[in-house]
Amino acid sequence: MFRSKNLERALRQRAYAARKKVNSSHRGHYDVIVVGARCAGAPTAMLLGRKGLRVLLVDRSSFPSDTISTHYVHQLGVARLANWGLADQVRDSNCRAINEVALFSGPRSLQSLFMSFSTVGVSYCPRRRILDRILLDAAIAAGVEFRPLFKVEQLLANFGAVIGIRGRSESRIVVDEHAAIVVGADGTNSLVARQVKSPMYYVEPRATCYAYSYWSGVTPGNGEIHFRNDRAATVFPTNDGLTCLTTVWRAPETQAIRHDVKGGYLEAIGFFPRLRPYLDCGRQEERVYSYFAQFPNFYRKPFGPGWALVGDAGYHKDPITALGITDAFRDAELLADAIERGLSGKRDLGQSLAAYERLRNKASLPLYKFTIEISSLGQKRSTKRLVGSDRTSAGRALYLSRELAALKR
Ligand SMILES: Cc1cc2nc3c(=O)[nH]c(=O)nc-3n(C[C@H](O)[C@H](O)[C@H](O)COP(=O)(O)OP(=O)(O)OC[C@H]3O[C@@H](n4cnc5c(N)ncnc54)[C@H](O)[C@@H]3O)c2cc1C
Repeated sequence: MFRSKNLERALRQRAYAARKKVNSSHRGHYDVIVVGARCAGAPTAMLLGRKGLRVLLVDRSSFPSDTISTHYVHQLGVARLANWGLADQVRDSNCRAINEVALFSGPRSLQSLFMSFSTVGVSYCPRRRILDRILLDAAIAAGVEFRPLFKVEQLLANFGAVIGIRGRSESRIVVDEHAAIVVGADGTNSLVARQVKSPMYYVEPRATCYAYSYWSGVTPGNGEIHFRNDRAATVFPTNDGLTCLTTVWRAPETQAIRHDVKGGYLEAIGFFPRLRPYLDCGRQEERVYSYFAQFPNFYRKPFGPGWALVGDAGYHKDPITALGITDAFRDAELLADAIERGLSGKRDLGQSLAAYERLRNKASLPLYKFTIEISSLGQKRSTKRLVGSDRTSAGRALYLSRELAALKR
């Protein structure tokens, strides 16, 4: 016997309503608790809130605030912001649009490295304190309950399944909260991932270290990526007329740079002839921020009974390709869909989350491999093609094809 689509939907909705009743009386107050409220957690919470789920979002930080990260958002990330109705807010935050990114490798330059290929023809590099605040406000507007300065200290479990969190509120009171599923969007050193002992895979050693700061007085054409020997630098216009200038070294140089981060940063800028105007007539407006990675590149299994991971908690790679934020947006959509399907009874929750892992990996793996290669700064085969100044055309083709293949998804 065939049921009509309407009858199927009505039955599913009734099952969802019944489950919701059980959740509130026996298993807790929320459908979903999201730990971490930045570029992975806030959109996940926002999308779940927009689907009508009861969501608690917590973060140990206060907002708005910066975090150690530069902040280039690829065109597909901007396209997602536009779909969510948030791209205009980024544009209106006095953040310059980036129409193209030039690659300088040795004496050559390649303009239009990132071409317009979708409805969104520009990218942005908004400060994290601005971008994360826009995402967070959108989550709150979607009905999400947000608690800043709330540090999760432990997951609550029952018969092997996560059923909630125990944390300390701003006033240092210990609070328990329960939900059908707890999402760890709590970054690379995720407490959620550690407590559920989520296994890592595709692990690759870390190859680079970073320093960056903000400059005025020199106006870059657009975005710039510079390679010279075994070093790299990037230049991106950001908010309020400032430029974010980042230098990248190979990891073995960490000890030497740690000793004098500011001196190492300025020396590295001088190493790139085209960046010397920053030293000659630019003004460094903020201190130098540095990043000496503790973690390798990795994937984590992103789900289990009562829990899921999104963003860097579940998939983390070297920042050299500036994909963390754009990837986090994609995975927020994939995970929010999977959770909604599972909790509404449209699909078994375990199967739905397994599909999330498959889709995430399929979409990210080609550029993950590319990121590992390029983070070797010329030590691996394909980056020799990209970085070697005599073979820039091949490098350009390689970079573009992989970039477009991934971003077109
Ligand atoms: C030097 C550097 C440069 C980068 N440049 C770029 C770039 O240009 N473009 C790009 O796309 N990506 C870049 N990235 C990567 C990007 O920063 C990450 O991919 C991105 O921040 C991941 O977002 P997330 O929300 O998963 O995690 P995070 O941004 O790390 O946020 C995690 C949140 O969880 C909270 N949290 C953690 N533990 C707890 C707890 N126990 N209780 C409550 N809250 C908790 C934290 O306070 C934090 O707010 C860069 C990274 C680095 C280090």
